[in-house]
Amino acid sequence: MTLIAVTKTVDVETINKAIELGITDIGENRVQELEKKIEEIGDNVNYHLIGHLQTNKVRNIIDKVKLIHSLDRMSLVKELDKRAKMNDLIIDTLVQVNVAEEDTKFGLEVNKVLPFVEEVLKFSNIRIKGLMTIAPYTDDKVLLRNVFRTMYKLKEEISKAGYENLSMDFLSMGMTNDYEIAIEEGSNMIRVGSGIFGDRNY
Ligand SMILES: *Cc1c(COP(=O)(O)O)cnc(C)c1O
Repeated sequence: MTLIAVTKTVDVETINKAIELGITDIGENRVQELEKKIEEIGDNVNYHLIGHLQTNKVRNIIDKVKLIHSLDRMSLVKELDKRAKMNDLIIDTLVQVNVAEEDTKFGLEVNKVLPFVEEVLKFSNIRIKGLMTIAPYTDDKVLLRNVFRTMYKLKEEISKAGYENLSMDFLSMGMTNDYEIAIEEGSNMIRVGSGIFGDRNY
């Protein structure tokens, strides 16, 4: 299990305290904020980009992050592959899935994921390591459980397809509101912000 401490709006002093207490992985949803934090905190933790990634921002972070959780379209795949080649590295990513098909969220519909994965496999400097989802914000536990269960099944389906050079290691799902259910349904990477640092005031 990987716990990613989501540090958006959290100041560097507080983040450093969390690192002292054992946090090893940090998540940010905006490139600019992530860059700033990396500069100030340094390379003693793993950085995850968990939010939408614009193609024109790829070059800013390509060599600084451990995992990009928001792979959701071919234009981004192409840019990531190109910049990874230029930096002589292989970039690890998760495919973002919009299970509940909410208009407000990024990510692929469930039935588009497998064909997308097959396309990405043609690119040599980008590697898919699993799937990510942001569940709907709701107290409806049945709905949440169904979303996470769908994700787990999808991950298994892709694993079983047996593609070469693809190992579905990570299922990134579960936030403050729903991480317990996510873990029960097979998550091995949770992204917790307010549950660690308290409510955000934007
Ligand atoms: C903010 C955010 C989180 C953490 O949310 P909390 O409810 O504070 O735990 C997790 N994942 C993503 C993609 C986020 O933007």
